[in-house]
Amino acid sequence: MEMSAFGTKLTNRSGILQLMDDLGKKGTEGLTMYGLGGGNPARIQEVEEMYRKEMETLLQNGDSFEQAIAHYDAPQGRMNFVHSIASSLSQEYGWDLGEENVAITNGSQSAMFYLFNLLSGTFTTDKGKEYKRTILFPLMPEYVGYADQGVESDTFVSVPSLCTYFDNHTFKYQIDFEKVSHYLDEHSRIGVDGMVGAMCISRPTNPSGNVLTDEEVMTLSTMAEAHHIPLIIDSAYGLPFPRIVFTENATPFWNENIILSMSLSKIGLPAIRTGIVVAKPEIIQALSNINAIAALASGSMGQVLAGPLFDNGTLIHFANKYVQPFYKKKSAQAQQYIQQEFAGKPYWYHVSEGAIFLWLYLPHLTIPTIQFYQKLKEKGVITVPGEYSFFGHEEQKKGHPYPHPHYDKCLRINYSGEDECVRKGIEIISKTYDEYRF
Ligand code: PLP
Repeated sequence: MEMSAFGTKLTNRSGILQLMDDLGKKGTEGLTMYGLGGGNPARIQEVEEMYRKEMETLLQNGDSFEQAIAHYDAPQGRMNFVHSIASSLSQEYGWDLGEENVAITNGSQSAMFYLFNLLSGTFTTDKGKEYKRTILFPLMPEYVGYADQGVESDTFVSVPSLCTYFDNHTFKYQIDFEKVSHYLDEHSRIGVDGMVGAMCISRPTNPSGNVLTDEEVMTLSTMAEAHHIPLIIDSAYGLPFPRIVFTENATPFWNENIILSMSLSKIGLPAIRTGIVVAKPEIIQALSNINAIAALASGSMGQVLAGPLFDNGTLIHFANKYVQPFYKKKSAQAQQYIQQEFAGKPYWYHVSEGAIFLWLYLPHLTIPTIQFYQKLKEKGVITVPGEYSFFGHEEQKKGHPYPHPHYDKCLRINYSGEDECVRKGIEIISKTYDEYRF
């Protein structure tokens, strides 16, 4: 079949396709599978009960259920849910939000797709000259699910992270602010190819579990403002919900120049696909218009279930009371498994500051992690190879690897599964490392 440039670009075998295929398709017959791959969140009893109760109320309350399923919402979202979000975030954080500041999408993955392609790609100056804008990712490695979202090619650029090692086999990435600032200064001219159209971070960062501090976010926000571009903060794991953040110096952050993307996926509803964007009105209007064309409207059920939980504060309360402590404990347990299983071997992992992953660095691997991932898969262990999380560097256009020492030596491990599954998976990773290390 012949395909358009759009088709060719988006049907390539992407990292995110492999990851989602691993999640959704059956493994090899007869092989016990240890799913440490994709981003499936855990089932948390209290959270499930919260939604079940909401669903029961809906079913018992006259024709509320039929009202929920029988109409399309506006492309911007279900307006009473939009209102709930705007008023609950305004009350809680003092942000000056109205309905015009909130849009709902079919999962935050779609929101990011819309945003990236709204703010990067071909632009035209007042005088009719065409030029290309980019999205700058200031902390690479970043979320594998972004890597192929640009409809036009070469619209994503990035700055490799700095790294500090600690003496307990952990390390932490930092933004190279000097390089980011320099890059922005060099790529800020309207009408010139390569102008940065927006910056984007995930906070917590997928895959590393890094959480940018308030100070770091403030610095990025100031830089973005100085260059008249928005800063996108993808808070799929973060603040104010599901609050899978283990550090103290991170609070919810928004201003008129920030596009804050949130999701109900990691607080129990990945199957219902509900993304929430908070931004200035012109961005919200643009997202709504795109949503009308791409999807007519977003799914209603997540909005119907979560609306009352925002209104009465339960959702944010449960994030604090159940979700955050649940993952904090799971992370500590998984770190213990790593320390046990890898004792005496050369290994490091990123300090676990948030999200549902541990990011394991195996410096003595003799094969790239893309191959190591295959070897593990043959043994039933599903992980995510690190290479897909390094994208947007000039060197890659020349066919070279991403210039970061961790590029082909890291695995992303989702620790939210059953403890024994996580432990056994890590044990197999460690034993397989013995086969492929110097
Ligand atoms: N952003 C990040 C950083 C993610 O890890 C994910 C999913 O795992 C998403 C966005 C998309 O999530 P959803 O579309 O389920 O809201």
